Amino acid sequence: MKTGASRGEIDGVVDRARSLGLNVQLNLGTDKTVVALLGSNTGQLSTDIFAVLPGVEGVTRIMKPYKLASREFKAEDSLVSIDGIEIGAKRVVVMAGPCAVESEGQLMEVARAVKESGASILRGGAFKPRTSPFSFQGLQKVGLELLAKAKERLDMPVITEVVDPHDVNLVSSYADILQVGSRNMQNFALLTNIGRSNCPVVLKRGYSCTITEWLTAADYLLAEGNNQVILCERGIRTFEDSVRFSLDISSIPVIKRFSHLPVIVDPSHAAGHYSLVPAIARAAIAAGADGLLIEVHPNPKEALVDGLQSLTPSDFARLMEELRQIARCVGRYI
Ligand code: PEP
Ligand code: MN
Repeated sequence: MKTGASRGEIDGVVDRARSLGLNVQLNLGTDKTVVALLGSNTGQLSTDIFAVLPGVEGVTRIMKPYKLASREFKAEDSLVSIDGIEIGAKRVVVMAGPCAVESEGQLMEVARAVKESGASILRGGAFKPRTSPFSFQGLQKVGLELLAKAKERLDMPVITEVVDPHDVNLVSSYADILQVGSRNMQNFALLTNIGRSNCPVVLKRGYSCTITEWLTAADYLLAEGNNQVILCERGIRTFEDSVRFSLDISSIPVIKRFSHLPVIVDPSHAAGHYSLVPAIARAAIAAGADGLLIEVHPNPKEALVDGLQSLTPSDFARLMEELRQIARCVGRYI
């Protein structure tokens, strides 16, 4: 819309689009409003239908498969705010904690430690999407209750994964941020339910998915009106087998170029080994990541899940010091 287009003019475009069976999303920018016209038949519609309406500055077809996640729809960076912690701003936000919540003692110990070292959000899996049905599946509802306890005790927001589309309401009643795991990036029923929940969400990249597929999956969340979407690069499958997954460091500048959404990095699942986590974490911040998601366990050797890639609290404290220096070099802070 033209700068200063009236509400009536915007409504005129919205009404016309709806009369043609299109879905509409508005980006109410400070300067200009962008109206996204969405539907499977937009290719058959002439742009003139909208170009002639009062207040319209121009009509552009977004040629990429993803629309709402694109910079064409929203040029300025999106910020996601969780209890006053902004993701996508100058501060690099560190989320840390165990892969899985195992017990009250384990969770409280690690939560206290990561908070003391400067992490601002606590991670912990209650529902674990395990490769094998015979592996530990998480404490589930009990795990959520323990996360709520840790949140209250330490005054720290929590992020936890939701696996089943039917559990979105349950998990979002405990979590400050929902995590969509790599294996569920294209679980469209799950994405749609999370989109309707309006709970902030971290969308991990499917380990065999392209950046385009990742951003198009983000559209499922955005299409339902949930714009609190954070992307998370966590490594992709390549021919390289000396690491668990190959962290696609280029995905960070690529996302920054093509999307307005914040992007964080999970060095733990990419590395698969604790000794490799610090270098990958430092590289992520240098490359422009807006945050990190790191696995920390008070006693990694005893961990029920992902012990080999988990940092001890003291390794994590040391890493945070290094990360502060890298952040400073790229004009940010932790
Ligand atoms: C996790 O964060 O514990 C996890 C299962 O990650 P991913 O979905 O990236 O494998
Ligand atoms: Mn894990």
